[in-house]
Formats: sequence, structure tokens, C-alpha cells
Amino acid sequence: MRRYVIIGNGVAGFSAAETLRARDPDGEILIVGDDPHGYYSRPGLAYLISGEIPETHLYPISEEEERQHSILRHRSCANSIDPAAHRVSLSDGKSLQYDRLLLATGSMAARLPVPGSDLEGVLKLDHLEDARKILKLARKARSAVVVGGGITALELVEGLLARGVSTHYFLRAERYWSNVLDETESRMVEDHIRKQGVEIHHKTELVEITGKQGKVTGARTQDGRLIPCDLVAYAIGIQARKDLAEACGIQTERGILVDVYMQTNIPDIFAAGDVTQYFDPLSGKYQIDSLWNTAREQGRIAGLNMSGECVPYQKKMALNVTRLGGITTTIIGRVGSGRDSDLSTISRGDSESWRQAPTSAMVQEGDGADRLRLQIGQENIIGAVVMGNQAHSYALQELIIQRVDISSIRDGLLRPGAPLGKLINDFWLRRKGGNAPQ
Ligand SMILES: Cc1cc2nc3c(=O)[nH]c(=O)nc-3n(C[C@H](O)[C@H](O)[C@H](O)COP(=O)(O)OP(=O)(O)OC[C@H]3O[C@@H](n4cnc5c(N)ncnc54)[C@H](O)[C@@H]3O)c2cc1C
Repeated sequence: MRRYVIIGNGVAGFSAAETLRARDPDGEILIVGDDPHGYYSRPGLAYLISGEIPETHLYPISEEEERQHSILRHRSCANSIDPAAHRVSLSDGKSLQYDRLLLATGSMAARLPVPGSDLEGVLKLDHLEDARKILKLARKARSAVVVGGGITALELVEGLLARGVSTHYFLRAERYWSNVLDETESRMVEDHIRKQGVEIHHKTELVEITGKQGKVTGARTQDGRLIPCDLVAYAIGIQARKDLAEACGIQTERGILVDVYMQTNIPDIFAAGDVTQYFDPLSGKYQIDSLWNTAREQGRIAGLNMSGECVPYQKKMALNVTRLGGITTTIIGRVGSGRDSDLSTISRGDSESWRQAPTSAMVQEGDGADRLRLQIGQENIIGAVVMGNQAHSYALQELIIQRVDISSIRDGLLRPGAPLGKLINDFWLRRKGGNAPQ
């Protein structure tokens, strides 16, 4: 009987465990996790702080279901790996032998590199405990400063607003999430949160958090302004939790390097999820995602290969359906480029592959509550951002992921003022063999 040890009790680790159980009914599967709350939805944390869901809704699977899969959970932190002895040492003094090991240790928020960042009232959003802390401190707080770009920073802004905390948002850049969104899209998001009372400070850098008796009292900017506040929340990017791998000789760059079988350079050790940097054949580069679906799929593929199969991970176009400042947004394929000075790396719910756009034409429709932007290559749509009305989101996901040849409607899409949504819809229905509306 084989023994599989999985370090990390997030979606990648759990998806691998489920796959292993299906493929190897007799194998012993042990998940080591240092989060006392087990396996829950991290994207759901944003909805917890905004008050839209209770904590009980975060759990995709009950402990009872986990037991039915005969997956054993060990609540501890893995401290070191001895690849030669096939052994993992844990913080509780125990050690575990493995035949196959999976590293699914995820990522964590990049630290805020300013004086005062250890004061009480400085907040991030990685884990359920962070969300609980935000809820607790927000009860007494009157005002907050949020720092950073991407999805999580905005979720912090919205969460604090929902808790009645008057919120300032610091952006180093001239506009929100400039390397993924275009100017109109950034403006739509900013207008939306401004209407809810958020004060946005562009080209503003936090240089110091001031405090009194160990608690936050204000946020100082590069031009000497001091914004009085009780809380400073930050989301300036993520870092892969790769220390364990590095210490035992596993090859890493920004994440753990894996081949298409999710295998590391060390025999019998695999990796999946946010902690990995995988080879993307489209761009020819090793890339990082922080996407729930990517982590789940990588966990599944790692599980298959750990059980003895030989199945390559086929990177799909990165996709996220999320909410930006209250606007439902689908981001898919390659839509942006460059760096965003508000993020040290990518943010949560983000993919490096979104910024790998080859030469393409941009067309767009709408700029009020709803907007559709398409990046059009020679024969395919290579990326899309759908904000507000999601009527065309599914068709676009399919057209982009399947790299459907759209040559027959390309000229029509590129014509100034073209009804993009209708053209896409009619094309999609014709392709599906349905009746296109006239
Ligand atoms: C606030 C927030 C919003 C997000 N929004 C979106 C979104 O809109 N869309 C989207 O697609 N994705 C989103 N994400 C990202 C998504 O949640 C991650 O991509 C996904 O959770 C990654 O799964 P994972 O299993 O690789 O890692 P994780 O979920 O990070 O799980 C790793 C686990 O391993 C544990 N661990 C680490 N080291 C050790 C060790 N040495 N010993 C034992 N245990 C260890 C960690 O504590 C953790 O529990 C969001 C994430 C957050 C936090």
C-alpha cells in the first residue's frame, strides 16, 4: 500500500487527495495543514467581510465527507523534508514517511515594507483568521486606509465600507489595476467605489504607519500628508510559500518549478496550486497564477500522476469571474501588459498570463454600467473583459478557450461602432447550430 503525504490543506491539496482516493482506493492519504480551519473557500473571505455570507458557507466539503473519502488530516506545520529518506518533519515533533509527496502550500500576502507595519490595526486578507480579525477591529474603527492594487485590495475597500468604516484608498499609479484593465474599465471601478464614499488618492505612496500605544493612528504619504485612521489594510501582491521546497533542494524561482506532470526536479515530489510556477506553452515562460480553478486542476493532475498515471497538465486560458467595486467582471485570456506599481507581483485572483498579449486589435462597446472589450488576433479572440451585463460572457469564454477561428466575423468586429455583443452572440448560436436572432 502506497502512502501519499500532501502538505497544504487548500483546494490544490484537497483536489489531489480526492483524485488519489478515486485512483488508488487502498492507498493511505494524509493531508498536513497548518490552518486550524481546514479546507475552505479563500475567495469567499471577501464575501464574509462584506457580510454577504456567514462563515458556515465557506466550506465546500464537511469533515464527515472528508472522513468518508478516508483522507486523514493532520493539523500541524511541515518544517522540513528529507528527500533521500522520503520523510517530512512536523512542528509537533512527529515525522511522516511518504512514497509520494505533494507540496500544495499556496501563497501568502507580500509584506508591507514600511515602518509601523507591525502595529495593531494593520491588516491583510490571507486566511479565515485574518477575516475574523478585520471583522473584529472594524466594529470599533471609524476610518481606514487601504493600500495596493488588484482584486484583494478592492475587496478590502468594499468589506470595510460594508462595515461602516470611512475608507481612503491609496494608489501609487494613476489608475486602478492598470496592467490588466484599460482606462475606461479602471474609471468604471473607481467611479463605482467613489459613489459609495471612498476617497481615492492617486499617485500616493504609503511611507509610514503612525501609532500610539501599539495601535494604528495614521498613514503618512510620500509628500508628508498624514491621514488619521484606525486601520491600514494592504494587498500589494503575493509570495509563493516555497521555503520548505528551497531548503531541501527543490528548484524554485518565484514559485516551485514543475514540469507538465506537476513533478519537481526531485523524484516522488510533486507540487500544485499557487505555490507553483508552471510552464505555459503559449508564452514559452514559467508563470504563476493565483486562481482557484487553476489550483484545483493542478491538484487533480498531480493526484493522477502521483497515483502512477502519466497525464500532462494542459494550461487553459486563465479565467476569473469576480466582482470589481461591485461590478461583476469576467477576465479571460490575454488582456493586458506591463507592470502595475501598486503590485509587487500578481494579486489574488490574478494570472501572469493575462499580461502576455501578442499584437492584437482592441475593440470595445459601452462605457456606462456595462462594457465589453475584446482583444482580436489574426484568427481568434485572444482575450476579453466583460463588465456588468454578463450575457456574452459564456460564449466568449468558449470562443477564447477553444481558440475558435472567428475570421468570418473579424472584419465586422473591427468596424467602428460594431454591435460586438450581437455579432458574438449570432456567431456563437450559428456555431452551436441554433437560430441566430435577426
Ligand atoms: C481574499 C482572497 C480572494 C481571492 N479571490 C479569488 C478570485 O476572485 N478568483 C480566484 O480564482 N481566486 C481567488 N483567490 C485565490 C485562490 O483562493 C487561490 O488561488 C487558491 O486558494 C490557491 O489554492 P492552494 O491550494 O494552492 O493554496 P491555499 O489556498 O493558499 O492553501 C494552502 C494551504 O497550505 C497551508 N500550508 C502552507 N505551508 C504549510 C506547511 N509548511 N505546513 C502545513 N500547511 C501549510 C496553508 O496554511 C494553506 O491552508 C483569492 C484568494 C484570497 C485569499
